[in-house]
Amino acid sequence: MSYLLGIDVGTSGTKTLVCDYRGKVLATAVAEHDSYAPKPGWSEQDPRQWWEATCKATRAVVRKAKIKPNQVAAIGLSGQMHGSVFLGQGTRPLRRALLWNDQRTAAECESIEKLAGGRRKLIDMVGNPALTGFTAPKILWVRKHEPHVYDKTRHILLPKDYIRYCMTGEYATEVGDASGTLLLDVKKRRWNAKLLDLLKIDPDLLPQCYESHEVSGHVHKEAANALGLLAGVPVVGGSGDQPAGAIGNGIVQSGVASATLGTSGVVFVHSDKPTYDPEGRVHTMCSAVEGKWCVFGCMLSAGGSLQWFRNYLSPVELAEAKRKSIDPYVLLTRAAEEAPPGCEGLFFLPYLTGERCPYPNPNARGGWIGLTARHGRHHMIRSVMEGVTYGMADALQIMDGMGINIRTVRLSGGGARSAFWRQMQADVYRRRVATINSDEGPAYGVAILAGVGAGVWSSVPQACKAVIRETQTLTPNRKLARLYTEHHKQYQRLYGALESEYDRIAKLP
Ligand code: ADP
Repeated sequence: MSYLLGIDVGTSGTKTLVCDYRGKVLATAVAEHDSYAPKPGWSEQDPRQWWEATCKATRAVVRKAKIKPNQVAAIGLSGQMHGSVFLGQGTRPLRRALLWNDQRTAAECESIEKLAGGRRKLIDMVGNPALTGFTAPKILWVRKHEPHVYDKTRHILLPKDYIRYCMTGEYATEVGDASGTLLLDVKKRRWNAKLLDLLKIDPDLLPQCYESHEVSGHVHKEAANALGLLAGVPVVGGSGDQPAGAIGNGIVQSGVASATLGTSGVVFVHSDKPTYDPEGRVHTMCSAVEGKWCVFGCMLSAGGSLQWFRNYLSPVELAEAKRKSIDPYVLLTRAAEEAPPGCEGLFFLPYLTGERCPYPNPNARGGWIGLTARHGRHHMIRSVMEGVTYGMADALQIMDGMGINIRTVRLSGGGARSAFWRQMQADVYRRRVATINSDEGPAYGVAILAGVGAGVWSSVPQACKAVIRETQTLTPNRKLARLYTEHHKQYQRLYGALESEYDRIAKLP
């Protein structure tokens, strides 16, 4: 028997997963990383630690799965997107990597949009606007502020591609993660020579770009010893954590989207064509399906809003949950069910950590609007869930406006554990929603890609068809869908009314 290994270099740790050729997961393992914030808004990690974590978690998962090292047939790599590793000669990076959530590059983003001839031109070139988390502004920042590092830089790699280099000695990436650099012509699936020229970035600094299922190299001897594997195992392109996670949700064909309600909320859809939102409110990237694309939007405080309510405003539920050894979210959602749909005009704005999609505004703030003396705690809890669901529906609405066909929304993340929230999503999204049989995320997605690279399945859609199935489907309640449509419109008007106030509040002493 042979098996597939998926590796996901996340932010808190590296996760490894072993599955068989039917997609059945045998074991997973995690090894953690440290994060550094040398200044407020800066976020860095040491790539050497990612490699150590990869070796540790790979040895652990092989042991837990009770397989032999020679039974690993292929490896797929996934990781946090946008991070930048600056390499000279050899495997030791020249400085710590700047991560996706590093905010130091506002000035560089502005200058990239200017050099490109404006935001719309930039979106036309690389599919996305300049956001502080992306790779290109980080490269410009290091060039300006640390010329001694930049002068020695010979290769710039994304997090999982640094691991690929340590494993195989190849400088390579693939179209999914490369889409998040702001340097890839997402339409043509190759580096954008014109933008590189405008930004004066030497194209030789960038790795070769593969499709996600293609074999990009083989594990070399020294790495095999460190990983506890055999030399020669093929390593496929893989993808960034968002497109890789979507493979695990089976988002590989037109008409199917996913809504993941974790701490943040992500709405992700497959697209047969490279379609952009001209305002850049959602991201367009290359999908892990060869020659296809994906569009996704990320709201920052989705499940995080309910988590905040649980942590700060639910001492009673927390105590009861502890006493009865049950999940406090079960008590909170039970209370929410007591309030009527629409919460009698109470709205919660879920911008507790600013917002990204549909409003890229770090100054946006959370709050309740519409409170009356009639409202109680159960209204407040339900309004949090409704507000978050409207926020997710905002992304779906932008995608509808781009002409993307979405018939079914597959639900995942912690929020999908609640039957009540699942039905609310069906009603607010006004579509069929479904749960699926897998919730392993990006490491599972790239294990599937490894299987395609190894010839277990003939294509990514065929692999997903073989291993992922819907376990429950729900349809919208027509009457509630009509009510929520009206309430969603009112919710959207509130942001418009408050936007300038948020900026004023941010400037208050
Ligand atoms: P993360 O994004 O941190 O990996 P999860 O995907 O587990 O986390 O999602 C956590 C969020 O899911 C919580 O903040 C909460 O809002 C929501 N959640 C978890 N369990 C439940 C539940 N039983 N009912 C409703 N919401 C839940």
